[in-house]
Amino acid sequence: MAFEGLSDKLSNAFKRLRSKGKLSQSDVKEAMREVRLALLEADVNYKVAKDFVAKVSERAVGAEVMESLTPAQHVIKIVNEELTALMGGENVRIASAPKPPTIVMLCGLQGSGKTTHAAKLAHMFKKQGRRPLLVACDVYRPAAITQLKVMGEKAGVSVFEQGQGNPVKIAKEAVKHAKDYGNDLVLLDTAGRLHIDETLMDELKRIKAEVGPHEILLVVDAMTGQDAVNVAKAFDEALGIDGVVLTKLDGDTRGGAALSVRAVTGKPIKFAGTGEKIEEIEVFHPERMASRILG
Ligand code: GDP
Repeated sequence: MAFEGLSDKLSNAFKRLRSKGKLSQSDVKEAMREVRLALLEADVNYKVAKDFVAKVSERAVGAEVMESLTPAQHVIKIVNEELTALMGGENVRIASAPKPPTIVMLCGLQGSGKTTHAAKLAHMFKKQGRRPLLVACDVYRPAAITQLKVMGEKAGVSVFEQGQGNPVKIAKEAVKHAKDYGNDLVLLDTAGRLHIDETLMDELKRIKAEVGPHEILLVVDAMTGQDAVNVAKAFDEALGIDGVVLTKLDGDTRGGAALSVRAVTGKPIKFAGTGEKIEEIEVFHPERMASRILG
């Protein structure tokens, strides 16, 4: 399970609270100090952790909690609610075009899991009765095109590719192809780089300007913690994103990215990747994630 470190530490902090019965302000203060440390060790953004604890503390020292018969339970409930709020409250669905096809542009750094998740999303939407088209706009790595074709086959979804042509033109022609062949969802797998650079952003901006995607999803690797959050911030500032696909949650023992992305960028996590297989993708539900963290 992901986030075991954070879960264990929070659970220890609450165990001590539970053993106290009635709580004093200093009991709550001590528990909140532990919660803050647990969040920082989970690689949650510093300011996010600080604001989180301030919010929980303010609610936890209220009369309703302090005078209740099960104050520790109340504190845990508040932490659960605030963790949920921190991750955006509820799931935000992707946009839908008023007239099909809906165009979704996937971007992200190389190795983040972009190609894999383009195929996973195609697979998921196909199962829901949609007719997705995967588009190979990552023209710089021949392996990326092959990989998309292999994964597209696993997903049972057509792949539009023109080899190593011009990605802007490919995106445009793919949309036309989708209209001609009745695909109601176009998923553009764009090129990644090892680092954010101007060339990458310029190309993404040109694709965006040419096809006008209804949804821009940024794919980030949860295992990179705060780096993932910084990448999300940079992409949002340069390109404008609508949401995040948080990948490799299965290997993320800490949870910092999941807990900070929304607060730092204002953009919700919409999907989470939980393995290498085509079906290992989840719609991201903040409430379920919070409950998982609290065990
Ligand atoms: P891209 O360069 O961004 O297109 O990244 P890829 O889609 O090629 O993924 C990079 C590597 O990460 C591949 O080996 C994938 O199998 C792996 N990967 C992608 N998503 C996940 C995930 O959610 N969990 C795990 N464990 N591995 C993943």
